[in-house]
Amino acid sequence: MIEARLLTALERLKAERWIKGFLKVNPNPYGMCREATGRMVQDCPFLRAVAGMVIDGRWGLRPHAWLVAPDGEIFDPAASQFPALFEYDEGLTETGRCMDCGEILFNGKSFCGDGCEDSFRTYLKEERCQGENHATRSK
Ligand SMILES: [Zn+2]
Repeated sequence: MIEARLLTALERLKAERWIKGFLKVNPNPYGMCREATGRMVQDCPFLRAVAGMVIDGRWGLRPHAWLVAPDGEIFDPAASQFPALFEYDEGLTETGRCMDCGEILFNGKSFCGDGCEDSFRTYLKEERCQGENHATRSK
């Protein structure tokens, strides 16, 4: 069993300094979460790199990567790209986007639900019918 332990003062200092240094070079870390997390975990091996989803008050659900300490504390070098970040969920991993509405999916499927699958099929059918109608009308 893995013991949840607190970071030592030195580890915490190292992690905080790493993020400060990273943000000095990259003041707007938009889209850099994976790169930053990958680099930070090499310098701070006492943290664990994770990927999952975050919930932002303005942007909604977004895929993201960050680091977690053994006691569950979050260290997120690219957090400042979000306007209102308030929740992390490492259990959720994006598997794709709904082909109809573009919603993020976690189920490995092509549509978020039957409604979207139906409307996408209807759309494909209508596209074909309109083409035929157009050809009939124009004679
Ligand atoms: Zn959908």
